[in-house]
Amino acid sequence: MTRVRFAPSPTGYLHVGNARTALFNYLFARKTGGQFILRIEDTDKERSKPEYETALIEDLKWLGTEWDEGPDIGGACGPYRQTERMDTYREYAEKLLLEGKVYRCYCTREELEERNASAKAQGRSLGYDGRCRKLSAADVSRCESEGRPSVLRFAMPDHTIKVNDLIRGEVVFEGDTISDFVIIKSDGMPTFHFAVVMDDYLMRVTHVIRGDDHLSNTPKHIALCEALGAEIPQYAHMAMTLGPDRARLSKRHGATSVRAFQENGYLAEAFFNYMALLGWGSSDDQEIFSKAELIREFSLERCNKSSAVFDHNKLLWMNGLYIRKTPPSILTGLALPFLKQHGLISDSPSPETLALCEKTITLEQEKIKTLLDVPERIGFFIREPVYDPKAVEKHLNEKGKTTLKLMLTVLEGLPTFSTYAVEMAVREFCEKNACKTGDVFHPLRVAVSGTTKGPGLFEMLEVLGKDTVVKRIKTAISYQPSV
Ligand code: GLU
Repeated sequence: MTRVRFAPSPTGYLHVGNARTALFNYLFARKTGGQFILRIEDTDKERSKPEYETALIEDLKWLGTEWDEGPDIGGACGPYRQTERMDTYREYAEKLLLEGKVYRCYCTREELEERNASAKAQGRSLGYDGRCRKLSAADVSRCESEGRPSVLRFAMPDHTIKVNDLIRGEVVFEGDTISDFVIIKSDGMPTFHFAVVMDDYLMRVTHVIRGDDHLSNTPKHIALCEALGAEIPQYAHMAMTLGPDRARLSKRHGATSVRAFQENGYLAEAFFNYMALLGWGSSDDQEIFSKAELIREFSLERCNKSSAVFDHNKLLWMNGLYIRKTPPSILTGLALPFLKQHGLISDSPSPETLALCEKTITLEQEKIKTLLDVPERIGFFIREPVYDPKAVEKHLNEKGKTTLKLMLTVLEGLPTFSTYAVEMAVREFCEKNACKTGDVFHPLRVAVSGTTKGPGLFEMLEVLGKDTVVKRIKTAISYQPSV
């Protein structure tokens, strides 16, 4: 059975690039009927925060990449937080030490820096020079008796290491160009390399799907697997996600955390779909995929070797498309937090308010691109309109107000206030008085909504209802903009 994992460090909010790694692992697991593990790599004590772990879990849940084993749900290969696995790392490090595959290194930081500086000056390659590999038993006991702190270093073999990458093909590294690296730091903490390999081994991970910024680490990981007698997982290194200027995606390209996209009103399904296309494509250029279709279609072979460019505009377009095909009742539910945030509804809105929201969202659905648009578009249905000064100047002038006074009598006299009845009455008024429709429609629209934009005028009037329309026209007639 295939087993894959997503292994974030809880040092910040889930980044778009990492979310894509999670998503590809998830799709691969579901496609192959395998299992998806969430593992928290929290060995960087300074930067790891429990609140980031909570946020990571929330954001992954929002994205919809459910996992089968993880810190929140447990599993047969737990614990799933690296700081809870310290004894295991120490036990295996000890074993490798006894077998002579790792050795104690007593070099201080200053000594290492000094030797690196002279290597640089002589044009030799940098990195650990292997000095402590050759220490005699007497040297070791002298260092110990001096109380010198030590780290454990892995004795890197000098043979060729081939990575048969499922995306990039064969990548060859020469073992003798990679210097011996630390696996246990002087404070007893494992390094990233050791913890990752140990966990992948003990969690029986079959495929490591990760960003290609880790490709250069892979020969180290393979060498460690060999030393441990562990089966070497299959590797798939995904090309990076870039901004439109082809620089690595960062804050200066706008929102980069999944949370920011959620807060900016993107739908999880649209985001999921868009992210899946970042570095992967179907055989026939299809772009809109449900989750089930993505699971069916996904393959690592179709992942691109070249970097993917994150295109905010395309995501926005796709979000609009998903919004348009979401049933209004569901869309309303998704928009509620945004309406609350804008103070348009309370924490427990009445059924009437909810019905009004759904009705008005339906009117505007075609034009909504993100959930953030909803409060702005439907706000005036719920509370009094906020007059746009430009619209007032243009349409609530003396001429507009005179028209509104006449319209008021027409509308007040209507026995029914349906879209059809109102439209008939307004058009008849225009004909009788030889007015251009625009000269009537615009003042009416501004009077009831405060702006010149919005849904169809007559649908809008019907939803607002006669009493509100009459009241708002009266307010508009007596409205004097402050100067
Ligand atoms: N914690 C590592 C990272 O976030 C995981 C690397 C890996 O997937 O092996 O980059």
